Amino acid sequence: MAQRGTLFIVSSPSGAGKSSLLAALLGSPANADGRMKLSVSHTTRAMRPGEENGVHYHFVDQAGFKALIARDAFFEWAEVFGNFYGTSRETIEQSLAQGIDIFLDIDWQGARQIRALMPEARSLFILPPSLPVLEQRLHGRGQDSAEVIAGRMAKAVDEMSHYDEYDYLLVNDDFATTLAQLQAVVLAERTTLAKQQIQHAELLRALLAK
Ligand code: GDP
Ligand code: ADP
Ligand code: 5GP
Repeated sequence: MAQRGTLFIVSSPSGAGKSSLLAALLGSPANADGRMKLSVSHTTRAMRPGEENGVHYHFVDQAGFKALIARDAFFEWAEVFGNFYGTSRETIEQSLAQGIDIFLDIDWQGARQIRALMPEARSLFILPPSLPVLEQRLHGRGQDSAEVIAGRMAKAVDEMSHYDEYDYLLVNDDFATTLAQLQAVVLAERTTLAKQQIQHAELLRALLAK
């Protein structure tokens, strides 16, 4: 039987670096075999410059999102900053069954829903090194208006107050250091006893045969 993939939930206040860290992780040598994938959420928010439909998000309108809720298409969904965001049930199930580790960049409300449905999921929270640095990063990204940034800063402390619901806590000060920590978490999860017993069932039988 193939090893089942692990579902990783990654949350942080907006601008702490989750998207950059996940993109770097997936493009790093730790993912040479392509066994890590990002889950592409559905959202009702406006597309940002440089974003592509189907790559960063599946962009839908409110009516389309509600129709998906009615069809029970979401594993979890939540309203974040006045827009709806949701994770598709089908893509998650297919990927995990194929042994792919799937990464969900979702907020704390979504993380709670997933933990309740799938206790074996692992969750990571990413903190910025300080509030001024967080604000600098949001400005530096150059993708949101001053008004949107003010709204995200106002929500940051509320989002961060949920840090202790997660399995792992990373402080994204130096990018390379945080990326190495993220890689370590993922690779360690692949070597837990339960996962290795499945992956190496034949070897274990051969080694332990009397
Ligand atoms: P970012 O904070 O700059 O990455 O901005 P985004 O617009 O990409 O994400 C907005 C918020 O929605 C973040 O808190 C995400 O973690 C959250 N989010 C994105 N996709 C999902 C999803 O599928 N489900 C849930 N529950 N939250 C999501
Ligand atoms: P999030 O997905 O959490 O909203 P992003 O990945 O978009 O955050 O990061 C926000 C901005 O901060 C981006 O411009 C990114 O390049 C930058 N950034 C991320 N991590 C670091 C870091 N460790 N040091 C400096 N800048 C960073
Ligand atoms: P942004 O609009 O900047 O892309 O994302 C804002 C927030 O929405 C981020 O904190 C992101 O993690 C969260 N988010 C994105 N997709 C989902 C999703 O599918 N479900 C939930 N619950 N949150 C999401």
